[in-house]
Amino acid sequence: MRRRTVLAHSAAALGGSALLGTGSTMAAAQPGGGTRTTETLLPGTKYASAVVTIDAPNDGPTAVVVGGMHGDEPSGYRAASDVASWAFDAGKLVVLPKANQPAIERGTRHNDNGDLNRKFPTGREVETKLARAIWQLVEETDPDVVLDLHSSKGVYRTHESFVGQAIFPTVVDPAPTYAQAAVDTANDTVVPWYLPYHRYERGNLLDGSSPLLVHKVAGDLDLPGYIVESTKFVLDPSTAARWTSLVAETLLANHGILRHDGRVEPTGGDRNT
Ligand SMILES: [Zn+2]
Repeated sequence: MRRRTVLAHSAAALGGSALLGTGSTMAAAQPGGGTRTTETLLPGTKYASAVVTIDAPNDGPTAVVVGGMHGDEPSGYRAASDVASWAFDAGKLVVLPKANQPAIERGTRHNDNGDLNRKFPTGREVETKLARAIWQLVEETDPDVVLDLHSSKGVYRTHESFVGQAIFPTVVDPAPTYAQAAVDTANDTVVPWYLPYHRYERGNLLDGSSPLLVHKVAGDLDLPGYIVESTKFVLDPSTAARWTSLVAETLLANHGILRHDGRVEPTGGDRNT
């Protein structure tokens, strides 16, 4: 009910153009209970993209999960599509698996307005249409945590111009602790011993100092959030997507958003939220 209210508010704020299309809404029951609903962000535009809302049967925190901000990072948007296909026992997820459809269709990092993940300045209005719609989706969802799933090109601290496999938390507790726990889980369970340079690292803290979506989550909303980067270096996209999915599952579980029949038990940190 609350969601419907904020969406109506949003439609008015946008001058009548609905942020989410209701014509294509599909609701389906989930294994273990709960519902999954699919809507469309910016329907009828070149940016039109599916938004999947998964309402688990038990109360819990709410997460926004974004993939595909950069169109040449398939492991990020494949992993976000995985998350959108899962059922959950507790919590609520709003998943935008393919945020940047024009760039994904072209297979490029940028769309016509440049780098989508440089359009989210802290403390200021978001200006481009797509970035504004994504930010409104975040604000209207009123999440407890935000995940943004990407691919990187290099190996951490080896390739100077690329980041490697890393989880970048916001400066807001408990994100730094949960990021380290997810790093440890991924390194213990999926990164093989013969790929030592592919061990995940905890990246620097995101604090609103750069115009990235998760920086703005920290700077404007004071929320836990994470950028997850799995590398293309040596890894095929399916493997990188599988690793990214595990990291997402681990982060969500530690926040109390539990996958139905999930592989990951909550671990690490003071689970005080
Ligand atoms: Zn990226």
